Amino acid sequence: MTKIYLTPKLTTVLPGHGKTTDYLHRFKLREEATCICGNEDQTMDHIIFKCIKTKGQRDILKHRINKKNKLQDYKKRINNQVQKSVNRIYRINRL
Ligand SMILES: [Zn+2]
Repeated sequence: MTKIYLTPKLTTVLPGHGKTTDYLHRFKLREEATCICGNEDQTMDHIIFKCIKTKGQRDILKHRINKKNKLQDYKKRINNQVQKSVNRIYRINRL
């Protein structure tokens, strides 16, 4: 299990209370809710999943997650192979 370290920024992003234009617009601190990309309102979901301005960061994150998953799969395969080898040794030696 991976431990997540909470930071002030993360605790505002998770419930969608970050300083997005959509959030500021709801509290009448900004005239428009539209994102700087001009495609739709700037919600946290838009920034994280859709915005073309954050695509580069999104791609880097996806790459890192895929790389980590591949490493975990590799470790599982190695662990399974070690377990099989140990079982085989136990069977051969009738331990
Ligand atoms: Zn956008």
